[in-house]
Amino acid sequence: MNSNPRIAIGGILHETHTFMPRLTTLDDFAALALHRGPNLLTTMRGARSGIGGMIDAAEARGWQLLPALYAAAMPAGTVTDAAYRSLLDDLLASIDGFERIDGVLLALHGAMVTEAERDVEADIVARVRARVGDSTPIIALLDMHGNISPRLVELADVLLAYHTNPHIDTHARGLDAVSIMARLLDGAIRPTAAYARPALLLPAQCTGTDDAPLSLVHARAAEMLQDDAIISIAIMGGFAYADTPYSGASIIVTSDNQPRLARSYADELSDMLWRHRHTALPAFLTPAEAVARAKRYDRGPVILVDSADNIGGGTSGDGADALRAMLDHHVRDGAIVLADPAAVDRCWRAGAGAEVTLDVGGKADRWHGDSVNVAGHVEALSDGVFELELKDNHFAAFYGEKVEMGRCAWLRVGGVNILLTERKTPPMDLAQLRHIGIIPEAQRMIVVKSAVAYRAAYLPIASGIIEMDTAGLCSANLARFDYQRLLRPIFPLD
Ligand SMILES: [Zn+2]
Repeated sequence: MNSNPRIAIGGILHETHTFMPRLTTLDDFAALALHRGPNLLTTMRGARSGIGGMIDAAEARGWQLLPALYAAAMPAGTVTDAAYRSLLDDLLASIDGFERIDGVLLALHGAMVTEAERDVEADIVARVRARVGDSTPIIALLDMHGNISPRLVELADVLLAYHTNPHIDTHARGLDAVSIMARLLDGAIRPTAAYARPALLLPAQCTGTDDAPLSLVHARAAEMLQDDAIISIAIMGGFAYADTPYSGASIIVTSDNQPRLARSYADELSDMLWRHRHTALPAFLTPAEAVARAKRYDRGPVILVDSADNIGGGTSGDGADALRAMLDHHVRDGAIVLADPAAVDRCWRAGAGAEVTLDVGGKADRWHGDSVNVAGHVEALSDGVFELELKDNHFAAFYGEKVEMGRCAWLRVGGVNILLTERKTPPMDLAQLRHIGIIPEAQRMIVVKSAVAYRAAYLPIASGIIEMDTAGLCSANLARFDYQRLLRPIFPLD
């Protein structure tokens, strides 16, 4: 290998919920992450994200990184063709401008959809491949929520994916990508990949890697990875709210020039997922049943999971079904966070210490239930800035170590603590509540608007977990959605 390889690096990431009415535009990328050229390296170096890991490992090896473009937007509706065209043109123009490229490292999601393109990641890799040629290795790191087409598997030399959900290993997988690239550049390995798809659409709630079915598959994959002939195994849970022909779970096993072994391992893992498909049907309680059950626990906090309003999945974060249930049941020391800028404004104008009567939640769209009319006491106001308590949190890549929720208000209604925020913010860290004075450990029950991402922060303090069946665009009841493009039949719809 050339002792100082020149490696192009970049990425375009979006998890697209194709049922959401609002399109995702270039502004949405600019609002979260849009870095070109050297700025990409200075911004993402050391970040706890996939690209952060790639940069750190490549620079530690003394490689010359050629920064192209890195863009990510919050999970939301279909990406406009104009936004995609602009990002792709930037990425490709950078690649065209690099004098010599020995390899390409890409950070992608796998579940990005534009108005016209259903297989965005394959399109990106195909266009990069057309520029760098077949002999230049391309390694892509994916979110395990990607919906993967066979075409993408053919186009990339090696595909890797996060092993964990919550995604606490993004940086580590970035390091892996670089060590595999080093072996490729040395000519030490010849990757051959096998792809298998079990015709299984997993609700986001069933894609946690500590639970069946994915935990079982990961346990077996860990044994397979002991084999030196196996370079990587990507266990894709898929993203059920993207309506594409490739949506659903998939397995990609990459071997060192052992195609039959890769095929047999991929089929084995895919069959395993299929055999355990019934573990991927979530059991739910209505919010009223969930609150009644939580009240029977000796101690708190019981975590009430409102996964239909999963902010990380792009929902409004203002569903108030669980709040209504807590108030109806006269809960003492319950907590919920609602994104409701109008209610925040009302509380700010009234001031800390004031009594207010207002409608909260249920305002952003028609998907997340009705508002609740409450009369309460404004306990505190804040600027909504908090620092993550939880280190190695993949949200740091999106939000930084310092999260800004916009103006906030702590409204206490009966025994329920409502944190009202201007910006919707996933329940990724206990400092979200603590920053304004709500003590998470002192609550009897806490509503989290998340499918899985809450676990890293909340499991360590939880006395119980109860999944609720609420209204929302990330409902685990997939029959609510009008799929047009899925490959059928697929479990659990058929
Ligand atoms: Zn994900």
